[in-house]
Amino acid sequence: MKKIQMLIGGRWVGGEGDEWLPVHDPSDGTQIAEIINGTDAHVDEAVRAAEAAFESEEWRAWKPHERGNLLIELARHIRENAEHFAELECRDVGKPLTQARADAEAAARYFEFYGGAADKAMGDTIPIEDGLLNATVLEPAGVTAHIVPWNYPLQIIARSVGAAIATGNSVVVKSAEDTPMTAHALTEWFANSGLPAGIFNHVTGLGSGAGAALSAHPNINHVTFTGSVPTGIAVMQAAAKNVVPVTLELGGKSPNIVFADADEEKALDGVVRAIIQNAGQTCSAGSRLLVEERYKEEFLGKLKERFDALEVGRGMDDKDIGPILNKRQFDGIMRRIDEAKKQGKLIAGGEEVKVDGADGGHYIAPTIIDGLDHSCDVAQEEIFGPVLSVFTFRTPQEAIDLANSTDYGLVAGVWTKDIDVAHTLAARIKAGQVFINNYGAGGGIQMPFGGYKKSGIGREKGFIALRNYVQVKNIAVKFGV
Ligand code: NAD
Repeated sequence: MKKIQMLIGGRWVGGEGDEWLPVHDPSDGTQIAEIINGTDAHVDEAVRAAEAAFESEEWRAWKPHERGNLLIELARHIRENAEHFAELECRDVGKPLTQARADAEAAARYFEFYGGAADKAMGDTIPIEDGLLNATVLEPAGVTAHIVPWNYPLQIIARSVGAAIATGNSVVVKSAEDTPMTAHALTEWFANSGLPAGIFNHVTGLGSGAGAALSAHPNINHVTFTGSVPTGIAVMQAAAKNVVPVTLELGGKSPNIVFADADEEKALDGVVRAIIQNAGQTCSAGSRLLVEERYKEEFLGKLKERFDALEVGRGMDDKDIGPILNKRQFDGIMRRIDEAKKQGKLIAGGEEVKVDGADGGHYIAPTIIDGLDHSCDVAQEEIFGPVLSVFTFRTPQEAIDLANSTDYGLVAGVWTKDIDVAHTLAARIKAGQVFINNYGAGGGIQMPFGGYKKSGIGREKGFIALRNYVQVKNIAVKFGV
């Protein structure tokens, strides 16, 4: 049984006197590790250590390219141990091994990308008048908090921590209580990386304890939170009391919009993958299918064949769909499916799947529901499971209206060969990313990612995310002889 300690100020913290929480493998419910239920005092210690490290001469002396090289070294470490990272993520989150391998590669890409960007984040010189040199300098924000959800811990830590360290900040990560394993594997690497003690800290525990304490800590200079809308609101409220900026990456109810002229094979592949990835437990899951009315019967018939052929199984058995995280999540999804069955028509799935030798796991057959009213809860709210609801439109404008008719705006997919239609939709849909004739573009480390409306505030990924972690200082120099 792995006992996961926290890393605070370069020291491994946690022992007999602490409360320990179990961590389970979603595939069969067996306990795989224990974490410490971090307290307010642990969080305070971590933030103070991060602050001291950030203010140290030692850290100030690190040149941007040296920070970058360290991150690139971490990318190399992840690639060299990709199978280890993938297996940890697979056992911890339950996702099929192939998807966990893709997560390990994405994490390596984040550290590599931000490693390369570390010495390329530059200010401007701005013309004002003769005898005045005006320049902006990008300074690190200071102590940055990173609160991580359970569904993609490895990738999500990499994307924000990579950008924060590249720009010279110190970091306190609060991993998700259900899935701390890869966070810990990264922490082990950071502990021996040669970074000054306290630049990277990892605290564990419940959201209501360690998470809340971190987001409310007055010595934090920026909070990056990825998770659900209600928690995002709580984090923003806590940070607001200290006038601390937040980057919020929240949920979604993303549409895949299929026109009758779409490349059918590509659209079918895209729609299936967008909803089954990580058993639908994905912020950017394509959980609504909007299909042109005259094409619906044909497309839905073929989609049902695809869904019926999908295999469900343990993460390590690497089928198409793995388990749901735990009983609580499972019950929530099944409740939504039961509601949907009463209000609409079940096309595929809709039931629990029993997997041989995995009695403690909770599995759901990939599900398609048709005939719902678009205003009902199932159509409007994030279900966070392998559940796709289907709606139809007759005109591009109807498709736009449907796409925009939820509180979310994270991602949208548009499938058509008509360039006018594709671009009109891309321009009118309120979502942070619009994919035309693809969905997700393989993760797209370089592409800004984030939400309109309740899907969040700010952007991660790409160069733009470096701006989350800097202060822009303007320096004006008057000169003349
Ligand atoms: P969650 O909001 O329950 O928890 C996220 C993190 O916040 C966890 O570490 C948790 O311990 C912590 N937390 C809980 N209560 C807290 C509080 N009061 N103060 C501070 N921290 C607290 O979310 P989850 O169930 O872990 O993740 C699923 C959600 O995350 C879904 O809504 C999903 O769409 C979203 N998500 C978004 C993205 C994105 O990039 N937009 C990516 C992955 C997941």
